[in-house]
Amino acid sequence: MTVAAMVAADMADMNILLIGSGGREHALAWAIAKSPQLGRLYCAPGNGGIAALAACVDLDIANHEAVLTFCRDKAIALVVVGPEAPLVAGLVDDLRQGGIKAFGPSKAAAQLEGSKGFTKDLCTEFDIPTASYGRFGNAADAKAHLRATGAPIVIKADGLAAGKGVIMAETLPQALAAIDDCFAGAFGDAGAEVVIEEWLQGEEASFFALVDGENVLPLASAQDHKRALDGDKGRNTGGMGAYSPAPVMTPGITQRVMRDIIKPTVAGLAARGIPYQGVLYAGLMITADGPKLIEYNVRFGDPECQVLMMRLQSDLLPALIATADGALAGLDLAWRDEAAVAVVMAARGYPGSYDKGSVIHGLDAAGFGDGVEIFHAGTRRDGDRIIASGGRVLNVTALGRDVAEAKARAYAAIAKIDWPQGFFRHDIGWRAIDRE
Ligand code: AMP
Repeated sequence: MTVAAMVAADMADMNILLIGSGGREHALAWAIAKSPQLGRLYCAPGNGGIAALAACVDLDIANHEAVLTFCRDKAIALVVVGPEAPLVAGLVDDLRQGGIKAFGPSKAAAQLEGSKGFTKDLCTEFDIPTASYGRFGNAADAKAHLRATGAPIVIKADGLAAGKGVIMAETLPQALAAIDDCFAGAFGDAGAEVVIEEWLQGEEASFFALVDGENVLPLASAQDHKRALDGDKGRNTGGMGAYSPAPVMTPGITQRVMRDIIKPTVAGLAARGIPYQGVLYAGLMITADGPKLIEYNVRFGDPECQVLMMRLQSDLLPALIATADGALAGLDLAWRDEAAVAVVMAARGYPGSYDKGSVIHGLDAAGFGDGVEIFHAGTRRDGDRIIASGGRVLNVTALGRDVAEAKARAYAAIAKIDWPQGFFRHDIGWRAIDRE
């Protein structure tokens, strides 16, 4: 056997445990399931769509000892952590300590998402462009600061608040009320400290890269739509759709983001002794002065992950392993030239209260066509039936020659799905299509 063949044999039949239950995890499961190196794929807890690709297991993710025991029993070669909460809780640290390889940052590095104050201070220390800010541990100091700065201004709960801890205050009374809400516990422990920051103007963009502690491998560009309704109106949500590529991320902007934001962050964390390993997701504002960091996330975006996985041509699994092994140097990923669009179908009422339990018909209808995938975000399987069990329920994702064609194909697929209790936006990708 040649050395390459021995390495390949060694890498074959790896059992993987994927953590999470959303559309992001379905897309990751779909990409991992295509790998010739995969042995068995497990997902905890998974969902009605993931169940077709992986053995869904009922594991208490908060119980790290139980996850370790499962990994040893099933000879898991890599744990892929989808959502932020287990990362912030230190699951990856405990797995590594127990000798199990994991994709995702340590608890210390996950503070990039877990504490807005941590990230802002890192930006100051390493001269990374971001909105000017102040950190406050009590309402009196926060309000004094607000009276000095005035509005419009942005108030943020420091900790994880499931995307709800950001208040864009257009007036001073709104800002003062947001301070009262935070310190009255509207965001639980996440609001024990607040960050008050400058309201940046410009076009928002997202940037994704794999980081192995030292090396950075940028991924294809992708952009989401956060608002619930057409025309980017309505309430903020987890994301109502996404597209890739995102034309706002021109090669010039990408270069500046790498040089001024991503590389100093990765080097700064390494210098602090907390190397970052995993996928790094930067939320950016492209301002008149260039790109500025709005926030970091320490996992794939959802639904941006869905469009990235549709466009990824290379095997995902070796890239995840190389990230966890600190071996990204020299690795390259191939992407399809086609564009991808994902449209989220959500339960009526989302992001407010909504009903669960309705049956979705038409999902097994033949004829979605090649290059169309229905990723499940909030479903469970009940015999042959697929039941809606979350706010965001399906991600209808399609490839096309450009964003306009991918969009048309995604909406043609939606037309075949029979689920009156759901709703979706009709204009996903509009900014990119305007530019096309
Ligand atoms: P975050 O949870 O920090 O991503 O914030 C959610 C959304 O609020 C972002 O996607 C932006 O649209 C908006 N946002 C947050 N911070 C700022 C800021 N300093 N200036 C303008 N918009 C912001």
